[in-house]
Amino acid sequence: MPEALNILKEVFGYPAFRGQQAGVIAHLASGGDCLVLMPTGGGKSLCYQIPALMRNGVAIVVSPLIALMQNQVTALHEIGVRAAVLNSSLSQQEAIQVEQKLLADAFDLLYVAPERLLTARFLNLIARIPIALFAIDEAHCVSQWGHDFRPEYIQLSILHERFPEVPRIALTATADMDTRKEIIERLGLGIAKVFVSSFDRPNIRYQIVDKTNSRSQLLTFIQAEHPGDTGIVYCLSRKKVEETALWLVKQGLHAIAYHAGMSMQQRSLNQEKFLREESIIMVATIAFGMGIDKPDVRFVAHLDLPKSIEGYYQETGRAGRDGQAANAWMAYGLGDVIQLRRMIEESEAQHKFKQVAARKLEAMLSLCETTTCRRIRMLSYFGESIETVGCGNCDICLNPPKVWDATVEVQKAMSCVYRTGQIFGAGHLIDVLRGNLTDRVKEWHHDRISTFGIGGDLPEKTWRAIFRQIVALGLLIPDSEGHGALHLTEASRAVLKGQQNVCLRQQTKIEQISSKRTGDDLISLAPAERSLWEQLRSWRAKTAKEHGVPAYVIFHDATLHELARLCPQTEDELSQVTGIGARKLDKYGIYLMEILRGD
Ligand code: ADP
Ligand code: ZN
Repeated sequence: MPEALNILKEVFGYPAFRGQQAGVIAHLASGGDCLVLMPTGGGKSLCYQIPALMRNGVAIVVSPLIALMQNQVTALHEIGVRAAVLNSSLSQQEAIQVEQKLLADAFDLLYVAPERLLTARFLNLIARIPIALFAIDEAHCVSQWGHDFRPEYIQLSILHERFPEVPRIALTATADMDTRKEIIERLGLGIAKVFVSSFDRPNIRYQIVDKTNSRSQLLTFIQAEHPGDTGIVYCLSRKKVEETALWLVKQGLHAIAYHAGMSMQQRSLNQEKFLREESIIMVATIAFGMGIDKPDVRFVAHLDLPKSIEGYYQETGRAGRDGQAANAWMAYGLGDVIQLRRMIEESEAQHKFKQVAARKLEAMLSLCETTTCRRIRMLSYFGESIETVGCGNCDICLNPPKVWDATVEVQKAMSCVYRTGQIFGAGHLIDVLRGNLTDRVKEWHHDRISTFGIGGDLPEKTWRAIFRQIVALGLLIPDSEGHGALHLTEASRAVLKGQQNVCLRQQTKIEQISSKRTGDDLISLAPAERSLWEQLRSWRAKTAKEHGVPAYVIFHDATLHELARLCPQTEDELSQVTGIGARKLDKYGIYLMEILRGD
């Protein structure tokens, strides 16, 4: 299909399709329905943007996020594509103008909020014009179980009833089977062709470190691996979000906050700021992030444990959409395990729901405690297998942990739990085991029990790691009172009786693995290239400001990187660079040539 490839090269400036893009585009352009499951950064937008340009009429794109629609449209204008938004951010007069232009065939793409699309007025309007296709972005919003549920999405099946001849494409980055089934059912996509891509994000490096002091660990991580980079830091509570953001600012970093407790206005202000600026750190709860399409987020850090692998995958997936090297870093400790276990226990939810939540947490914990490749574990959780022993780009592959037989230590810990009456948390238990004569130990006469001092040979840090792992393994469980008291379980018995051995991971001494990154990133530039990159970057910042758009809308990091490395000297060479299409060559070519020729 030469036409699609031409559009890709001419309009978007990319040399080749990625993954399943070509197949999806051919299918949709010829009038077929499809469901596209592609990871974040996989390139979903092109799957409908190119058919929109190939087919007669306007493509109607349904998207739940107003800020994002506007960004997409701005980026399309930059490359000369006729596009507009229709949502509540427009005044009534502006909306009427868009409608009039729509009737006059002025757009190739129209981005619409679902509630607007479903109005009788809008449906009647589009009945009068040719429609190229319907694209339903973030299609997982139909799922009542997911936390992005939008009731209007369920009604989108009306599109097929009203416009049966118009092809539809539903897109999502949600990987799990249940959501997939729900989308097909609710949107009536039974006969649609399903395109499933690998959910691997090879450019993301996964690292999970033992939590000691998460804030200062975070700061060390940012300073060592991401000075001046853009990133997202996830915390569990609103309070922690605010405290962490403030603290980072005090350390001289440019950090802002986002959580559901802030006013709507403040939230969208901060989101907008994050999308626009460079070298900015967003500290947020999981309320932040759906569809954040900032391509140059270089790291996602978790200061608290996510509740499921789905959540972890989705949140970390916001790093490195541009395909350049990125880090997913998490600090994880005993407190996380206890807190989440308790939250599930205490929740008011029905028994069945609790069971599901508990299972998801188990899977997440075993990802944290794994001694084999994290990527393989995560992908296999999503039902995908990759044929390799290890990915070479996660902390486990880069720095394999040792496993040791900790049966004796675990027995000591368990009997200490038993002898102290199953009412104490890990802190006190460790004091007893290590023989620390604290006030509490004296008060409870725990210096007189048989487990007092039997663990003096191991440092406190090791004991904390042991307790964390045995709680993660479900060999001890926290009670529901909320004080972190641990008690024995059914599973403890076999270990205590010596019928079952327990192997644990050894503490890795180095907290951070080396900051050596994979080849294709900015660090790998030679000094002369690096200086060119800086010049290009400051030109881009200036230009973006003049145009009132985010820097990445002018050019992606990947494009600047390629420019700095190849240093093209003619217009023809320039047009070969990834991300430079006809329109951008026209608009920016001479400025780039000036910088590249050193004029
Ligand atoms: P998604 O919506 O799947 O998360 P996007 O559509 O935003 O991903 O695409 C992610 C990034 O990859 C964008 O910056 C996009 O311009 C770029 N991209 C998409 N397809 C290609 C391609 N074929 N070649 C090069 N870059 C591409
Ligand atoms: Zn690995």
